[in-house]
Amino acid sequence: MSDRNQTLFDRAKAVIPGGVNSPVRAFKAVGGTPRFITRAHGAYLWDANGQRYIDYIGSWGPMILGHGHPQVLQAVQQAIQDGLSYGAPTEREIELVEEILKLVPSLEMVRLVNSGTEAGMSAIRLARGATGRPKIIKFEGCYHGHADALLVKAGSGLATFGHPTSAGVPPEVVQHTLVLEYNNLEQLEAAFAEHGDQIAALMIEPIAGNMNFVRASVPFMRRCRELCTQHGALLVLDEVMTGFRVALGGAQRLYAQAIPGFEPDMTVLGKVIGGGMPLAAFGGKRAVMEQLAPLGPVYQAGTLSGNPVATACGLATLRLIQQPGFFDGLAQRTRALVDGLQAEARRAGVPFSADSEGGMFGFFFLPELPRNYAQVMASDAARFNRFFHGMLQRGVYLAPALYEAGFVSAAHTDADIAATLEAARSALATL
Ligand code: PMP
Repeated sequence: MSDRNQTLFDRAKAVIPGGVNSPVRAFKAVGGTPRFITRAHGAYLWDANGQRYIDYIGSWGPMILGHGHPQVLQAVQQAIQDGLSYGAPTEREIELVEEILKLVPSLEMVRLVNSGTEAGMSAIRLARGATGRPKIIKFEGCYHGHADALLVKAGSGLATFGHPTSAGVPPEVVQHTLVLEYNNLEQLEAAFAEHGDQIAALMIEPIAGNMNFVRASVPFMRRCRELCTQHGALLVLDEVMTGFRVALGGAQRLYAQAIPGFEPDMTVLGKVIGGGMPLAAFGGKRAVMEQLAPLGPVYQAGTLSGNPVATACGLATLRLIQQPGFFDGLAQRTRALVDGLQAEARRAGVPFSADSEGGMFGFFFLPELPRNYAQVMASDAARFNRFFHGMLQRGVYLAPALYEAGFVSAAHTDADIAATLEAARSALATL
């Protein structure tokens, strides 16, 4: 049988750089032919050869309800009838933002944009504008989108290509970005001691999904909060991945349980809030958010921002994930997957560690969970690649790079998890 994925990949490569519109899709890290997807339903994807896969990428996070949830499709179809875009305000934007505010108590105002990149870039500009300071802190292995100032030793797609920074970003553009090791308290203390009065914002993924799955320790997050407060910098949580994915109020809700009174100053959101449509957001306290145009001097705008179809999709998604027990069920199935993988690896005698929170998970061919980027990248890449392809052959679609997180949706059944573990048992046996 001819491989239609390969045919499409060859055709794509002739007209699209690398054949893909986002680098990690190209299977560069793991080798082989990317699967060209023709349709998706529930927990499954089908490729151009008609092969079915259990999907643990979920469009890299948004598809928390699974693909094609009937109520989400209905909301989108209804919205389409009324027009695709107006470039003028709508009631649905207010509804979506009010829904987000209700679920994330640290937020007082939110602006909607189209991608996580835009949201992160705008949050940084706003933090600099509001504080009148130039410097930002980010952490190695955290990815906040591909805005110039944030593309400094970023993880995710870039790590594959071995560039500490992207070409095309002049050094002057990133001279105010400090890159520290994740979970490293000494470096954090030293950065604030040296640059404290120059730091506009500290931006962090609370559970870093762009180096697979690494939690910021509670003492580390507490110290981030304390030092930002002490030095007048804004703590910006990038919850593009974790927001409405690890818990209803995002990772910040979990840290607030461990650190009394914990709140970020700003939050960046994306993925789940759009339910699979291009939609993201950034928000924070009123005094900061009112520095944005048209009220304040910090400029930010978007032709398609608050798009009526995207907001309909996001709103339907956010309403459905508030059903009683939704996150408990999702977390249980995700935990069952992770525990099961761990048990299969132990049986196969393969060094392995794994973790999950809500519907997000990560696993490593390492005996212990890593705490920073260097430890993640020390994991056995060749073994990961063999495991990835072993699972793909057996109909399980995992993220094609060892530094990416995985996602379970509400459409994944116990039977899907069991089938995945059976595939894992046979794939691990071949490693
Ligand atoms: N922040 C985080 C934490 C992300 O995971 C991502 C995307 N994976 C982004 C920002 C950028 O979002 P987008 O791809 O929508 O630009």
